[in-house]
Order: sequence, then structure tokens, then C-alpha cells
Amino acid sequence: MTQELTKIPQATAKRLPLYYRFLKNLHSSGKQRVSSAELSEAVKVDSATIRRDFSYFGALGKKGYGYNVNYLLSFFSKTLDQDELTKVALIGVGNLGTAFLHYNFLKNNNTKIEMAFDIDDEKIGSSIGEVPIYSLKNLEEKLADSGITVAILTVPAQVAQSITDHLVQANVKGILNFTPARLNVPNSIRVHHIDLAVELQSLVYFLKHYPMDETDL
Ligand code: ATP
Repeated sequence: MTQELTKIPQATAKRLPLYYRFLKNLHSSGKQRVSSAELSEAVKVDSATIRRDFSYFGALGKKGYGYNVNYLLSFFSKTLDQDELTKVALIGVGNLGTAFLHYNFLKNNNTKIEMAFDIDDEKIGSSIGEVPIYSLKNLEEKLADSGITVAILTVPAQVAQSITDHLVQANVKGILNFTPARLNVPNSIRVHHIDLAVELQSLVYFLKHYPMDETDL
């Protein structure tokens, strides 16, 4: 990511892809400007937060005019490195991994799964959604010179750490971890953890114990 992102708060940085996706839709529908209230309604972030976030990018909305869609879009596009294709590797072609191989990430982001790895001989050598599946044994060799620095981990939890160690060796800098395992990595490596079962359980718990109040909406 570019320099600008290192200066903005992490919470703001996390919302950038959300803003970017919505602005892209606005742009394709021919809209030139957008108010923070409209943005707020669409991305479900309160408008004060949006105004504060946007002020970090030097985008100061004008009263009665709102924000210029083109300006914001080109800013986000640059900041999120959208001019450059980010190539990704996926490890573990099970149910979840297979779904990701079928999913078209390019629809909303300039990211693409270039190759996948597994240990199952029935899967190795085949392709899913045009993504070739290689043996995990060839991980380091295939990743070398591939330009891939991001990996998605959809393997069983008990092998997640050892695969992570190999990924680090292979110069991967970012890991999207879908396994329940907590990974140990050097400080220079960023891991984002998405445990779908925990997220679902948390939603059910919140529904039960903190029912949404119509007046809060
Ligand atoms: P999911 O968890 O995605 O629903 P699943 O239940 O189909 O998957 P899992 O047992 O979780 O299967 O394994 C996910 C995938 O990871 C399988 O394709 C399996 O062959 C692969 N796998 C298992 N061990 C390893 C390993 N050490 N390295 C790479 N891939 C592995």
C-alpha cells in the first residue's frame, strides 16, 4: 500500500475497501457527487465517522454539494493499489477453499487467486475456475518469482502453523487466515483472522442478548 495509508488510523484504513466498492457503483451509474448522509446510509457507517475518515484524505465535502465521486474514487484507487493486480495464493482446496476459487474477486477488487496448493493427490494437477492446484511440496518453488505476497489459508487448523512457517519462508507478507488456529508470525508479517464459526456464534449471541431496538436504527 502507498505511504498515505501509513498515516491514517487503522480503523479508517479498514473502511477504505467498503467506501471504494460503493463509490465504484456510484461511478458506474453516472453519479458525480455524493453526500455523507447518502454514503452513511449505503455503507452503514455514521456520517460523522465518514466525514472524519474523508478529512484524512484531504477530501472535504462542501455543504450542499457533498463529495466529488471521481476525486474520491481516484484517491481510493491509488491508495488501495487498485492500479496494480494483487496476486494471491490459496492453501487448502476443501469446501471453503473451492468456493473461493470459484469466486470472482476481480469483480470488486483488483485481486486474483493465481494458484492453489493441497496435499490431496486427487486435487493436485487439476484446476478449479482456471486456478491450477499444485502440490504443497512445491510451495516455495512455485511462489518464488511469482510476485505473490498474499495467501489465503483454508486448511485444517492443526496444520495451519506449519504451513504458515513455509509461507513466511516463501516471502509471503500477508495471510488471510480462515482456520480457527491462532498463528505465530514474525512482526513483519500481517495476519487477518476470519473465523466464520466464531462470527456466526457471536451474531447469534448478540441477537439473543442485545436485541436490536427499532429506536436505535
Ligand atoms: P473446509 O474446511 O474448507 O470445509 P473440508 O472439510 O473439505 O474443508 P478440510 O479437512 O478442512 O476439508 O481440509 C481442507 C483442505 O485442506 C482439503 O482439501 C485438504 O486436502 C487440504 N489439506 C489438508 N492438510 C493439508 C496440508 N498439510 N497442506 C495443504 N492442504 C492440506
